[in-house]
Amino acid sequence: MKTKFLVCFSFFFFLFAMSSNAQQPRQPAASVSGTSAASAPIKTNPLTPEEQSVILRKATERPFTGKYTKFNGKGVYTCKYCDAILFRSTDKFASECGWPSFDAAIPGAVKQTPDADGQRMEITCARCGGHLGHVFVGERFTPKNTRYCVNSISMNFVPADKMKVEKAYFAAGCFWGVQYFLERAKGVVTTTVGYMGGKTRKPTYKEVCSHTTGHAETVEVVYDPLQISFEELAKLFFEIHDPAQVDHQGPDIGDQYRGEIFYVDDAQKTTAEKLIQILDANGMKVATKLDSAGAFTFWKAEDYHQFYYDKNGKKPYCHFYTKRF
Ligand SMILES: [Zn+2]
Repeated sequence: MKTKFLVCFSFFFFLFAMSSNAQQPRQPAASVSGTSAASAPIKTNPLTPEEQSVILRKATERPFTGKYTKFNGKGVYTCKYCDAILFRSTDKFASECGWPSFDAAIPGAVKQTPDADGQRMEITCARCGGHLGHVFVGERFTPKNTRYCVNSISMNFVPADKMKVEKAYFAAGCFWGVQYFLERAKGVVTTTVGYMGGKTRKPTYKEVCSHTTGHAETVEVVYDPLQISFEELAKLFFEIHDPAQVDHQGPDIGDQYRGEIFYVDDAQKTTAEKLIQILDANGMKVATKLDSAGAFTFWKAEDYHQFYYDKNGKKPYCHFYTKRF
């Protein structure tokens, strides 16, 4: 009952406040600074008058009219104005509130700002500033206890096989900790832990730990290049472990804990070499190996290794953030 009341309250409040909250169009928000794809000038898409009223002037679409309210395709939802990836279909849930609802957003993709009404939290695209809707917490719809309530008209749906994403592969010791940090990086759509760089097919954790297969515990990162560059990810990689350690990381000893970047193209290789040079010039003897991802297969690890710390409510024991750049 309580939940029902909250839903209804949110619904009517949302409807009332949104329709009376029109503001002037604004320019895309300033983006992240630094050397990244995200710092390039933002190219925005043309909008229809109806889209402009929601995305630029913060009106709302009528409930139960948006095309994604009851839609269940597998893929991602992007910003209609700038194409940044905002939400995953796996985080969408049926709230019956009349608008698409998600209990999580892509890290860093959605900005929260106290609404002009003094009550609610507005959500906008962190990249372009386009209005998306509001976020509500404490309604207990899902274990994450969060509802991003988004106008369908502010988004496009992109099927999983059409996503404009890029991949990177990092080995830096126990993959539990590496995944913990990389999955929280801005613009990261998903991460998977697995084994790479060895000589056997479909290795198991037990085989890899026997130090006979040559695999490194590796994290595959799928990211939105509009929001984060390989260079930013690679810097984070170097900052969450000690790249000077050879064949171990903290208390974990063995060649599966070596530091290695499996680059997917020459641009990633060049970037990795540049960052290693910077660290070497600063007095660090970097032991990170560089190998082509194309020479190896990434073998997904057993399910119990995926998102280990999050599933078990723990924090990494051998990975910590240290600023190095
Ligand atoms: Zn946007």
